[in-house]
Amino acid sequence: MRVDLHNHTSLCNHATGTMEEYILKAIEENIDVFGFSCHNPMHFDAKYRMRFEELPLYFNEIARLKEKYAEKIEILSALEIDFLPPFMEDSLFALPLDYRIGAVHFLGDWGFDNPEFIREYAKRDINDCWVEYFRATEMLAKSGKFDIVAHMDLLKVFKHFPTKDLRKEIESALKAIKQANMSVEINAAGFRKEVGEQYPSREILEMCHALEIPIVFGSDAHAVQQINFKRKELESLAKEVGYTKCAVYRQREREFIEF
Ligand SMILES: [Zn+2]
Ligand SMILES: [Zn+2]
Repeated sequence: MRVDLHNHTSLCNHATGTMEEYILKAIEENIDVFGFSCHNPMHFDAKYRMRFEELPLYFNEIARLKEKYAEKIEILSALEIDFLPPFMEDSLFALPLDYRIGAVHFLGDWGFDNPEFIREYAKRDINDCWVEYFRATEMLAKSGKFDIVAHMDLLKVFKHFPTKDLRKEIESALKAIKQANMSVEINAAGFRKEVGEQYPSREILEMCHALEIPIVFGSDAHAVQQINFKRKELESLAKEVGYTKCAVYRQREREFIEF
């Protein structure tokens, strides 16, 4: 079975394609379970996401497609929610989602994966950034609000790798993830970025496996043709590390499926 839990749509203003086009492509790619996980609305970074008023539109369209294509594909409803405590509205956590993906895209108010703000890297100590990033990931897990952690080493997006050993920090974040009973996502978006590889690294994935943290698969598609991109590579990597099953969530209940 092929499950893909992380996909955006044009509603978030930095992706293209209608929701129906995503579903048609997912069917063509033989995906059995497909999750929409648009960025959450937020009173910050508002131009890169849907507005709160658009949430009903999002959910109605998911409901319509779910019914229309019920014979061909199972469609799940989710959001990729920024872990940004002052801006995480309680109302988001009251929505009837199949799962919540938690993501760190900001260190303070710096959107570090946005090419628009790439110059900020020159002003920072990269090791400090990584420590802060993994600490934020740990806090995300400890918040107890999420099911899945997105792209767990996203800070490498423009190839700014740490120059010191961060296993202690990674381990600490992973233990919090394990404690929170969450899954870690294997995300294909890195293949489309400067870094040219999946998130997270093989090393982190091996640490996840050692701690028996489940995985999910996500294309993180921001365009229709990105659905299922590099899926074979992601699956082989997961298998090499020792995984045979991935997680899927329905109404926030987790189940495992062989891939
Ligand atoms: Zn995005
Ligand atoms: Zn993301």
